[in-house]
Amino acid sequence: MRMVLLGAPGSGKGTQGEKLVAHFGIPKISTGDALRAAVAAGTELGRKAKSAMDAGQLVANEIVIGIVEERLGQPDAQKGFILDGFPRNTAQARVLDEMLVRLGQPPIDKAVHLAVDDEEIIQRLLDRAQKEGRADDKEDVIRHRIKVYNDETHPLLDYYAAQHKVVKVDGVGSLDDIFQRILKALK
Ligand code: ADP
Repeated sequence: MRMVLLGAPGSGKGTQGEKLVAHFGIPKISTGDALRAAVAAGTELGRKAKSAMDAGQLVANEIVIGIVEERLGQPDAQKGFILDGFPRNTAQARVLDEMLVRLGQPPIDKAVHLAVDDEEIIQRLLDRAQKEGRADDKEDVIRHRIKVYNDETHPLLDYYAAQHKVVKVDGVGSLDDIFQRILKALK
């Protein structure tokens, strides 16, 4: 199973992604996690990414594409993977399709859309800000991330719909209910 998780920041991609990892036994590749690790480690890549991340803007395509290509080439990603936070714009989606061809992998099977409305998203992210204190979970940055999502990432639903790959799942409810909805939608 080669899967892309699509949804606004705070829609639950990370959490549901972990459940999918346990269920399918394939790795999750999160560009957000990889970038935060690079920032924490103080690598050159992390230094390049930090200011965009802190401002709620997208990090340059070539940086995230490099991360994903390196990861998709590793042995444990050959049987399948779950992408969380990538692709985030249509340019990245096109590159991903080309990359899979180049790596000799089959194409993406499904794009799972976790649908959650903006007001619920803002509330969740403000709650997360209090608990986790992530640098980009401040109200103005949150609003900007939602705008970037609506402008740049949401159009990916059309990209994957044209390939008949979108499965839409209601992302509001208990974690287990949402997970069961995803499994049902993938059947
Ligand atoms: P969220 O979904 O809560 O916004 P992520 O952890 O997916 O959080 O991403 C955090 C930040 O990392 C983004 O706001 C962006 O700056 C950067 N980032 C993550 N993935 C990508 C990507 N595919 N392209 C560009 N920037 C990215």
